[in-house]
Amino acid sequence: MDYHRLDFSHEGDLTIEEIKRRVKAGNPDANTDNLVKAFEFAHHHHINQKRSSGEPYIIHPMNVAATLIKLKMDLPSICGGLLHDVVEDCDVSEEEIRETFGDDIANIVIGCTKISKIKFKTKEESQAENFRKMVVAMAKDIRVIIVKLADRMHNMLTLQYVSKEKQVKKAQETLDIYVPLASRLGINSVKSELEDLCLRFLHPEVYYRLAEKIAMKKSERDQYIRETVENIEEKLSEYSVHAEVYGRSKHFYSIYKKMHNRGVDYEQIQDLLAFRIIVGNITECYKCLGIIHSSYTPVPGRFKDYIAIPKVNDYQSLHTTVIGPKAERIEIQIRTQEMHEIAETGVAAHWMYKENKKSKNKLKWVEELMEYNNEIQTSSEFMDAVKNDLEISGIFVFTPTGDVKELKYGATPLDFAYAVHTDVGNKCVGAKVNGKMVPLKHRLKSGDTVEVLTSKTQEPSKDWLKIVKTSRARTKIKQHLLKVEREKNKTIGEQMLEKALKTYGTNIKTLEKKKEFKKAYDQLNVKNLEELVLHLGSGRFSVRQILEHIASIDTTSEDELTKENKNKEFDSLYKQLSSSAKKTSNKDNAVIVDGLDDIMVRMGKCCNPIPGDPIIGFITRGRGVTVHTKVCQRVNEIEDTRKIFVEWNDDYSFRHPVSVRVITHDRPGILSRITNNIHGHGTNIKSAIAKSLPDMKGSFLFEIEVKDYSEYLKVVSLIEAMEEVISVNRA
Ligand code: MN
Repeated sequence: MDYHRLDFSHEGDLTIEEIKRRVKAGNPDANTDNLVKAFEFAHHHHINQKRSSGEPYIIHPMNVAATLIKLKMDLPSICGGLLHDVVEDCDVSEEEIRETFGDDIANIVIGCTKISKIKFKTKEESQAENFRKMVVAMAKDIRVIIVKLADRMHNMLTLQYVSKEKQVKKAQETLDIYVPLASRLGINSVKSELEDLCLRFLHPEVYYRLAEKIAMKKSERDQYIRETVENIEEKLSEYSVHAEVYGRSKHFYSIYKKMHNRGVDYEQIQDLLAFRIIVGNITECYKCLGIIHSSYTPVPGRFKDYIAIPKVNDYQSLHTTVIGPKAERIEIQIRTQEMHEIAETGVAAHWMYKENKKSKNKLKWVEELMEYNNEIQTSSEFMDAVKNDLEISGIFVFTPTGDVKELKYGATPLDFAYAVHTDVGNKCVGAKVNGKMVPLKHRLKSGDTVEVLTSKTQEPSKDWLKIVKTSRARTKIKQHLLKVEREKNKTIGEQMLEKALKTYGTNIKTLEKKKEFKKAYDQLNVKNLEELVLHLGSGRFSVRQILEHIASIDTTSEDELTKENKNKEFDSLYKQLSSSAKKTSNKDNAVIVDGLDDIMVRMGKCCNPIPGDPIIGFITRGRGVTVHTKVCQRVNEIEDTRKIFVEWNDDYSFRHPVSVRVITHDRPGILSRITNNIHGHGTNIKSAIAKSLPDMKGSFLFEIEVKDYSEYLKVVSLIEAMEEVISVNRA
């Protein structure tokens, strides 16, 4: 009848002998010397302190230790529980703890102290932010979290002794931070207990009404539970399945949530009872389910198989709801003993299994977490695991002054620099991570301390777009590149116009003074001279167009600006172009040429532009238009009069070739891993050339076909993410 649930009630009369006895009961070989030493140390330092309840202070750390024993935590954790308040409350130095108890216990105590100092934000601010701070502070040793949970549990159990105001504050904080943590760590026993306690202090009217209602029908319900348990046991034994069956009323908080979510009252909640069946192995779980479903009518849509697909915190069970023997809906969970222990104690079960040398448990991410040798990895993987729950999608790194910055997973020092300030990003030349120089493309990990190195002469380059992972950095780099390009276009446009006007014996300055010149702005749909030359430089207007407009308003210069002279060269080129135009329809061309529908368009072999690249067209002699990226070397070599405005055709769906050079450390199978990464994305590889370089390096030149620039970037980022890869560049 006992629901097989851990009881965390406050124990006012705990003794160190009792604590020792419980530790020995779980682990007869345990050496309890440290335990006694920790108790005596804590007792000595807390001797003059009292709890709000009036009890001696030491009863608090002892209850915390008792909870840790119930969660089957290891001895250093239990000692940590006894000592968790001595640094914070008794002015004991960290060094003294370290010298007296060693690093393992000391780190747990210091971790707990660190968390106590965190200032959590108010309820209005995001819960994820609080959670993050918590995680960053203690990610180095997960036992710190569990000790802190045990600490919070006892504080909540004795919350009635503090002021009303403090009750609400503590309970809300518990609900916002500690409950999700317990849930994520799979410690359901702690999670449910904390939830009920939070309900009691946050919504006492609901809590006590529920308590009253549940107490009212207690004997009736107990009898119902007893009969149902017997009924289920009977059915199972008919099929010779040996199982333990338990039943109980659900937790207050889960009833409250049901009422709240469905907007109904207590009386309307049907499935108030939960039953649990514990069997020997997984096969029996499913056998059990079959028996239950054939003995009672299942409620459709309520079956969940968390054995085949465990929850992210490794919780496993079969869940179903059926119409019970008395025509009431009952929830049934079916699981093995091992699954049950993991469900109750979650991450803590790890120590239990380690100490008892039982079967390998399935808490894979926890095992990875436990690799203490690699603390940085531990913290980042922990956070990866945690983020699934709260949809935190990032890593947390520190500035040299200790501020925390959240960045996207895979972020680089460059992303960090832009997160600090745009100017820092624009002038970034490198970074030190945890004191060591790293390249700009280095992947940051949670817990890293990053110091950005800047130089006054640094300028963002287009290659940076391949390095950064955050949209902030990407936007800022693009803005800067655009600004630079604007300046360049302005200069080019000015030079083009000045040169053209010179042939007619005038210049910009002279023309600008004429009132009529302003009218040309309207006709060309520009605001001012700056915009005019900008469009000229970028190829949106041709010199001819501008001269025509100026000519139409400036009668005094009409004589000089004779039609033939105006733009003979452009005219002839344009004519040639039209005659060479192929019969092609619009969607066959990747690029739309300003004013010309059926024109032959070729991509410059030198730069292989792909959709998304800023581009410019060149009118060739008799071969249509060639498209180059605006940053291509050829752009500077070709006369301005031959530039023509082109833009990408959104209707064009064919793929574009692009060459990518990858430099890697020479490792077996590297080529196939790179090609897998490219293919994996659905991208074609047209050719691949491999070459060995000195220093055990390899160079690969791939010609791939992509739809657009974003696909290209995806491929590049996949390759860049490979450990062996040194650099990836467009060739
Ligand atoms: Mn405490």
